[in-house]
Amino acid sequence: MSIPRAASDNSPAWHSLPVADALHRLAVAAATGLSQQGAAERLEQHGRNRLPPPKRRGPCLRFALQFHNPLIYVLLAAGTVTFALGDYIDAGVIVGVVLINAVIGFVQEGKAEKALEAVSAMLASRATVLREGERHEIDASLLVPGDIVFLESGARVPADLRLLRVKNLRVNEAALTGESVPAEKRTQAVTADAAIGDRLCLAFSGTVVSFGQGQGLVVGTGQATEIGRIGLLVGATRTLATPLTRRLDQFARQITLFILVVGLLTFLYGHLVQDMPVLEIFLAVVGLAVAAIPEGLPAIVTIVLAIGTRVMARQHAIVRRLPAVETLGSVTVICSDKTGTLTRNEMTAVCVMLPAHSLEVSGAGYAPEGGFSRDGATVDAQRDEALQELARCALLCNDAQLKRSADSGWQLVGDPTEGALLTLARKAGLDPAQLAKTHPRVDEIPFESEHRFMATLHHDHTGHTAVLLKGAPERVLDLCTDDGSGQPLDRDAWQTRMHRAAGAGQRVLALARRQMPADTTALAMDDIAPRFTLLGLIGLIDPPREEAIAAVAECQRAGLRVKMITGDHAVTAAAIGRQLGLNADHALTGDMIGALDDEALRRHALDTDVFARASPEHKLRLVGALQAQGELVAMTGDGVNDAPALKAADIGVAMGFKGTDAAREAADLVLTDDNFATIARAVREGRVVFDNVKKSLLFILPTNGGEAGVILLAVFLGLALPVTAGQILWVNMITAVTLALALAFEPAEPGVMLRPPRRPGEPLITGVLAARIAYVSVLMIAVTFTVFEWELARGSSVEVARTAAVNMLVIGELVYLFNVRHFTAPALNREILTGNPVALWVSVILIVFQLLFTYAPPLQQVFHTAALDVLSWLVIVALGAGKFLAVEAEKAVLRRLQVRSM
Ligand code: ATP
Repeated sequence: MSIPRAASDNSPAWHSLPVADALHRLAVAAATGLSQQGAAERLEQHGRNRLPPPKRRGPCLRFALQFHNPLIYVLLAAGTVTFALGDYIDAGVIVGVVLINAVIGFVQEGKAEKALEAVSAMLASRATVLREGERHEIDASLLVPGDIVFLESGARVPADLRLLRVKNLRVNEAALTGESVPAEKRTQAVTADAAIGDRLCLAFSGTVVSFGQGQGLVVGTGQATEIGRIGLLVGATRTLATPLTRRLDQFARQITLFILVVGLLTFLYGHLVQDMPVLEIFLAVVGLAVAAIPEGLPAIVTIVLAIGTRVMARQHAIVRRLPAVETLGSVTVICSDKTGTLTRNEMTAVCVMLPAHSLEVSGAGYAPEGGFSRDGATVDAQRDEALQELARCALLCNDAQLKRSADSGWQLVGDPTEGALLTLARKAGLDPAQLAKTHPRVDEIPFESEHRFMATLHHDHTGHTAVLLKGAPERVLDLCTDDGSGQPLDRDAWQTRMHRAAGAGQRVLALARRQMPADTTALAMDDIAPRFTLLGLIGLIDPPREEAIAAVAECQRAGLRVKMITGDHAVTAAAIGRQLGLNADHALTGDMIGALDDEALRRHALDTDVFARASPEHKLRLVGALQAQGELVAMTGDGVNDAPALKAADIGVAMGFKGTDAAREAADLVLTDDNFATIARAVREGRVVFDNVKKSLLFILPTNGGEAGVILLAVFLGLALPVTAGQILWVNMITAVTLALALAFEPAEPGVMLRPPRRPGEPLITGVLAARIAYVSVLMIAVTFTVFEWELARGSSVEVARTAAVNMLVIGELVYLFNVRHFTAPALNREILTGNPVALWVSVILIVFQLLFTYAPPLQQVFHTAALDVLSWLVIVALGAGKFLAVEAEKAVLRRLQVRSM
């Protein structure tokens, strides 16, 4: 049969159709969903469920914007005047350099943007669909009209849906309607002319589920969705600007202004006092401007940041906002969830506590292989009625599914805690499919971290109706009056058993049951009253990740505090915390946090490492308390309610795998492997990025300082200029595309995670850094002048002397690149050759360029250069080596003074 086109111009008003009609029109059965084959055909017909990417600035505009920079204005003005004065060659060089500079900027910016785009593409949304009667998790772009999709709190609605079933479903439609109060959804059809905001039986693509659960029929995908039709752009458009690049931009502007003033004074001095001809002094001033302005700096920093994000992405940390790369390096406290982040999230039930006895459970993972034993003796699970009753509850009050595939074994779809319970039930001999038939679920209260339990209502076809409950022991014990033994519940005895398991690091769940009148069809919160019978407790282990233990230790060595914030029980949390190397002696619970005022919380927040039974609202308060102490906080989260804490933190970290869309969208950083060790790696990479930005400053500024100093000195001493404006442009251009770029690829400093975090608010150019810049500038001026004057003294022409001076400048920069690769660690070792291959390559390229500059006739003509003899090269290389050693000597002094970074 032909498939009706959904949401095209002649599509029906889905909100006015009853559920059955909608299903009928899209030719799908609610119980099974589409077949894979049918879905594939529809995909072919309707195309992928995605919107065209937001329009980028076109290449022409991007190229034109390269000229929008005060420095370029200055250069172009200089070029025009030079042209008017009749020096066509130098005017041509200036224009040529401006053009080449623009091309380089254009290409680099394009690369940076591409890198960032590739990274955001890794954050594709996923959706849970029903196909062929089974739940599947698929890429949301593969949804087709007729698919049946499950919604839960925190999820972004993946397509336009006609709702089939809702349970307290509330959806935030601000993205579409601007209304910030979430809409309470229903399944009843509304009139055809209802406004968007009143179509309560529809859930629109791009909106976010803020509470509850639901199931919906896809009626529109891609551009046929409401959001596609009005052409709204989803997701923030990324910009390459960050606070750091803006600060540097401003810095470059200030320098430009300063140089213009100095240039004017130099012009007046040269012309009036030294009596230099207008053209000559003008070109000298142009050279000065070109020399002194660090035009490449903002671009280099952007590249360093972009490369940093790419490295992080490769290590499973996706940066959603570029400024986060800078901030990461200064983080002082990492607050992390426990389950799945610090632990493996591979839950296994290891013990069962029944009213009359306890059993150990054998086997590992989700494979139902293993059995039960009591004090070492095997127990026949089928004959233990209490165990059967508990296992039935574990299986029925459960939303997870275990699937077996030939190649990858037992796979879990759903929550690992629940997966472990399914495995336990199978080990007890229960068959999920059969039990689902004999005890169908009629209603449910889904699990939410806030209330820490889940309840389901079942009929058994023989007139019995019961509520099954599972959740945190203290919640469930409070609701139980007995444990089936005929006696009132002995809470203390159960508490003791629970604590014993928790003390071994086990997550403990309690399971209970309540008989209901046979005709009950709906489950309300009021039904979760203290009338339950406790069936038993189950202890689950979830071992810490090996790499998390190592990462915690690494963070602690790097002066970072690691705090674990978990929804789990305090005793369990403390036991796991201890295994991870945290200080678990004074765990704070959510209740305790609630009882503290802000002032008291501030005092406790810093010293406590383990926070248990904490809810999202406690996380938010904790972020505030830590920040008030001047800490820079990274906070992880996965639920929709974690979003405020993630936004408030300096670095919000969301889990890419188990996290909700809402959390991911609030985060600065998304972990694609949900692993704590990845946060530690990202912090390390953040430090490397910051170091490399500083190294770029440390490299570029003395280069500019040296070049400008050479010209200033010549003018003020009334000497011939050692380099012309055109030559300076050449040096800047050639080193900008080679040497400076190499620093973006610089690997980590040794000991990058052995030093304390950068103090928040520490200036970019510290005292030590400024001193190094001044020192190297002076060295650069000294060697250049020495070569120039030496050449003149031995009778070389001005052209030869200038060629030698330019080569001296370039060699001086080249050797300095290798000095700069480490702030204070010595450069002279084998690592100099192996550490950063890019540095070697660009050095080779640079030398080739310099040989052309010196010996190729066309370049000789344009830049007024002349061939050098061997002696000149020997002097240049010797002075280069001397300069290298002079910087190494300064580093040695800094090492003596225990300065490790700058
Ligand atoms: P963390 O915050 O370390 O990641 P978590 O997110 O797993 O831990 P929650 O999911 O909030 O913590 O769980 C809190 C408590 O709720 C658990 O200790 C457990 O007792 C109970 N619980 C967890 N999952 C379920 C579930 N599926 N059904 C019923 N109760 C659950």
